[in-house]
Amino acid sequence: MTQILPDLDGRLALPGDAAYDDARRGWNLAVDQRPAAVAHAASAVDVQAVVRHARAVDLRVAPQATGHGSEALDLDALRGAILLKTAGLDAIAIDPAARTATVGAGVTAGALAEAAAAHGLAPVLGVAPSVGVAGLVLGGGLGWLSRTHGRAASGLLAAEVVTADGERRAADDDLLLALRGGGGRGVIATSLTLALHPVDELFGGMVAWPGEHAAEVLEQVRRVALDAPECLSLIFRVLSLPPLDVIPAPIRGRRIAAVVAVHAGPRADAEHALAPLRATGGALLDTCGAIGPADLVRVAGDPEQPVPARGEGLLLRELTPATVGAIAAVADDHREALTVLEVRQLGGALARDGLTAPFQVFVGGAGDSPEATAATLAAAADVRARLARWTAPRVPLASCGVGADVARGYADGAWERLAAIRDAVDPDRRFLSQHDE
Ligand SMILES: Cc1cc2nc3c(=O)[nH]c(=O)nc-3n(C[C@H](O)[C@H](O)[C@H](O)COP(=O)(O)OP(=O)(O)OC[C@H]3O[C@@H](n4cnc5c(N)ncnc54)[C@H](O)[C@@H]3O)c2cc1C
Repeated sequence: MTQILPDLDGRLALPGDAAYDDARRGWNLAVDQRPAAVAHAASAVDVQAVVRHARAVDLRVAPQATGHGSEALDLDALRGAILLKTAGLDAIAIDPAARTATVGAGVTAGALAEAAAAHGLAPVLGVAPSVGVAGLVLGGGLGWLSRTHGRAASGLLAAEVVTADGERRAADDDLLLALRGGGGRGVIATSLTLALHPVDELFGGMVAWPGEHAAEVLEQVRRVALDAPECLSLIFRVLSLPPLDVIPAPIRGRRIAAVVAVHAGPRADAEHALAPLRATGGALLDTCGAIGPADLVRVAGDPEQPVPARGEGLLLRELTPATVGAIAAVADDHREALTVLEVRQLGGALARDGLTAPFQVFVGGAGDSPEATAATLAAAADVRARLARWTAPRVPLASCGVGADVARGYADGAWERLAAIRDAVDPDRRFLSQHDE
């Protein structure tokens, strides 16, 4: 392969090469990726060279920015694919007048948030800095600004792609539609142009209580969420934190019930809206204060370094006092297997965007051994069963577990339309995506 790809500026690693084991690793250390080769693209021209080569030797190509979404990759299919790492496509161009950002396929949310923040702007991104913009946007993308501006995918204005024949072109309207939340199937996006939003005043942070307060804290979240303005977003989490120095001393090594909140607007309004929550007794920590736009991807404190993780999400039709009780109970019953249980407030612009469920639940645990993985998945299945009364039929693509019925995440007929667009641009299934149905 090295002879056939002499012009690849990035690196290439094959099974047996000393570099292969490092190269094949993604952010999620629980996923043992063993592709036929790993190519590190440094440019869109590299992407074209890899795609043409893959065609010539009849291998598939699996684009990967960071590997945050690797849990949903078909690992058997990956053995017959070149894993195309795009981290080298890391250019960011901000146009402050047009309020747009054009980013390479390997840019992370943290890097984009920093670059946009320098102009007082922010795109819709998720809550973790190490997630790739490409996978997040192409899969839908929910973050702090989603209640005011919708899914990250809705802010996708233009894209440059490499198609299965190795050609490079701007995405036409059909393709752009498919890229807005369809998972990027059928092409490799080399760059994305995203809308940026002005953010003048932001207030946010985390308030944490001992884990036993979970039901009481979630009930407060439910009440505050009932008439929260769209500029306020809440995430409730029950977390088992490791004893690491980077974690603030009051919560280090503890099981906590926490609320992370972000309010985009005047500080007095934020303080007023959050007062009932922050007044809930027994808090161990309250980091709420003024934050900048770049902090949007860091305020939740998600792990930045690779970790072994397994998890899955579901959408709630409603959050009633009974749902609160059931969630607190499953969190407690699975305190060993689930290191995180999250309830994320949706609504606002997301509902106008077609995602009508008011809350998303995500549960996750360690995947550092087959036993831990099995325990996490069994606990997740139990959560699904016990919350079934309140769950919505749809599951966001980015939260689907392996083998999930991805089509269920889409409005009637939408998945079929996406499949038709994919069949038209990639009839031979050259590209291997997460949820490759
Ligand atoms: C710690 C953590 C926090 C998260 N937080 C959020 C959050 O707040 N909000 C949210 O919405 N989601 C969140 N997610 C889910 C995340 O958005 C998805 O896992 C997403 O797919 C990750 O994108 P990536 O590029 O980093 O991952 P990758 O594994 O690199 O890519 C995932 C998939 O995207 C597709 N893809 C990637 N690049 C391209 C490309 N250039 N062209 C075509 N297809 C491509 C491929 O199918 C690939 O398999 C989180 C995940 C983790 C692990």
